[in-house]
Amino acid sequence: MALREVLQFPDPRLKRVSEPISEVTDEIRELARDLCDVMYDEPGIGLAAPQVGEAIRLIVVDTKWTEEDIARNPLILVNPEIVERDGKITWSEGCLSVPDFNAEVERASQVVLHARDLDGKPVEIEAEELEAVCFQHEIDHLDGILFIDRISRLKRSLYVQKRKKALREEAEASVL
Ligand code: ZN
Repeated sequence: MALREVLQFPDPRLKRVSEPISEVTDEIRELARDLCDVMYDEPGIGLAAPQVGEAIRLIVVDTKWTEEDIARNPLILVNPEIVERDGKITWSEGCLSVPDFNAEVERASQVVLHARDLDGKPVEIEAEELEAVCFQHEIDHLDGILFIDRISRLKRSLYVQKRKKALREEAEASVL
């Protein structure tokens, strides 16, 4: 089966605020599987449903996975919410929806997250460093926020210019 396409900046669908999930249906479970497939294929360490065009509050995260490691253990989180944040950390972030760009973003270094799993059971996760950064990044997607919305205006506008130029070149190349 073909993998779902990841939307890329400046697709306006990335700016939507996603809806909470009231009930975990088979459709949601299928979407969660699709998100994991895309995440491992890209590869990435996290993916949010709105990145594949579904404006619902579902994320998948696996910060421990590497190419060499066969053990994949994705966290699949329904309606994730950060209930506590502490400390500060600066991490160089990238995003599958923001091609060819990395930038340092300041976030909380420790978070406590509440969510539900695919069985509807409540889960509480304490995370720090990369995992905490990843949760904050993915939950931002659910609120229509990209990491480039959290960097300086100058850095952001430099990226936007570069991206527009790349898109123009792509469009020109495709008509040849
Ligand atoms: Zn992202």
